[in-house]
Amino acid sequence: MTSAKNRRLALVTGAGRGIGRVIALTLAGRGFSVAVNYHNSATAAEELCGELAASGVDAKAFRADVSRAEDVASLFRAVEDSMGAVQVLVNNAGITRDNLLMRMKTEEWNDVVAANLNSVFYCTKEAIRGMVRARWGRIVSIASVVGLVGNAGQANYSATKAGIIGFTKSVAREYAARGITANVVAPGFIETDMTGILKENVRAAMLGQIPAGRMGSPEDVAGAVAFFASDESEYLTGQVLAVDGGMTMC
Ligand code: NAP
Repeated sequence: MTSAKNRRLALVTGAGRGIGRVIALTLAGRGFSVAVNYHNSATAAEELCGELAASGVDAKAFRADVSRAEDVASLFRAVEDSMGAVQVLVNNAGITRDNLLMRMKTEEWNDVVAANLNSVFYCTKEAIRGMVRARWGRIVSIASVVGLVGNAGQANYSATKAGIIGFTKSVAREYAARGITANVVAPGFIETDMTGILKENVRAAMLGQIPAGRMGSPEDVAGAVAFFASDESEYLTGQVLAVDGGMTMC
């Protein structure tokens, strides 16, 4: 097993719960040290780090609202000071504020853009300098299949997820020659708090569109992230991998 000193460091945003939590656990299981970012889920994030530390993984929790540039700057300083340079960045944090366009408030638009898209810009910009210095880095951002195909009631959310894809392809082109890859994992319909709030008829309609016949699990998403975080994916950059049970196939 890799010694704690030789482990690569992964920072996962929004890792206190949901998909981010399972990404952190999965990366830890694959030999990474993990910086666990959270915003409101302090207890869950501390418990996760305790669980990881008990199995010999270097893991620490860091509070930051990644929709705020100042918070992200402080987050990276704190991580670098206590754990070292971030070698793998997983942009996972995200929110929904669903509404039909005619009813969508400017605040619902701005909140989603700040949490889902501005955060990816702030975090990636902070991470890239160290990656360039190391001539190695992995940036994996969690978008959504709705960023590819759209979704009624989610114009704000879909726009941010499409934005992440365009952003990632540009970053991939800028840094491919420096040993840094930037890729997107686009989940379909995954069982977490985010989808737990959906009404039963909406869930049934979604399920009817999934050839695999089931919702995805956070583990399904985490497996794809771990692949993009690994040395095995060295020659893949600017890619969008849909983890959706065959729902979109585009
Ligand atoms: P979730 O269960 O609602 O969890 C959201 C996570 O994001 C929480 O850990 C939350 O942290 C964090 N977060 C939100 N705003 C933040 C901020 N400003 N700063 C820091 N952390 C913030 O959602 P999920 O289903 O795990 O979703 C994770 C990612 O997958 C999101 O990007 C989402 O858009 C994407 N996704 C999910 C699905 C799905 O079906 N579930 C499908 C496609 C894409 P705190 O709890 O600490 O506040």
